[in-house]
Amino acid sequence: MRILLTNDDGINAPGLNVLERIARQLSDDIWICAPSEEQSGAGHSLTLTRPIRVREHAPRRFSVTGTPTDAVTMALKKLMPEPPDLVLSGVNRGANLGDDVTYSGTVAAAIESALAGIPSIALSQVYSKEGMADMVPFDVAEDWGRKVLQPLIDAPFAPRTLVNVNFPAVKSSQVKGIRVVRQGFHDYSRGSVVEGTDPRGYKYFWFGLHGIEHTAGHDSDLEAISDGYISVTPLQLDLTHEASLANLRERFA
Ligand code: MN
Repeated sequence: MRILLTNDDGINAPGLNVLERIARQLSDDIWICAPSEEQSGAGHSLTLTRPIRVREHAPRRFSVTGTPTDAVTMALKKLMPEPPDLVLSGVNRGANLGDDVTYSGTVAAAIESALAGIPSIALSQVYSKEGMADMVPFDVAEDWGRKVLQPLIDAPFAPRTLVNVNFPAVKSSQVKGIRVVRQGFHDYSRGSVVEGTDPRGYKYFWFGLHGIEHTAGHDSDLEAISDGYISVTPLQLDLTHEASLANLRERFA
């Protein structure tokens, strides 16, 4: 089984090393292509206005000066002689839950390979709070990774779908299990805009991530994670809201 690994935190991200150790339990045929710099929040962006540079760090290990989507595109269309059987994106530093998945470079990288018809899984390690990014409990992902991935690999992937996995911020031994749940949603739009003044006296703004309110919907990824479970959520790329089709058609009839 040939597996392509990527990560939106960049080629040097600790979570990518974690993912490589998980993947090597499944196969020896591992390829890596990730952005050269952190690209968290890049979503499904594609670089169209600048050239992409590729660096080969070692055999089958590349970085690209671009987004997670660029990295997967380069791997699939240029760097790999044959397509992978599986694409794993992560393990992201931080949650990708609820409606945040559209911001996620981690999920978007898996979307890109899902569009190419390749089974694709995004993996993220939740950590307890902002400011603790150096103490992400990646051992949870590492200890549970294979247990989560094996049944997913054995299952058939429906076309234009992918799987989003999040590991909870608890001790590995305290993980209660694995739940297959739907995508949840936050009560309010994301975060706050923090205003400050730079050393030269000019105003700047920084999007803050903390204080996202949510009431975890039943059977959602948010609820599973807050209950101490690993969440497994199948996502689809078709964003059409079926229930609104008839209503809107009536208005244009
Ligand atoms: Mn990230």
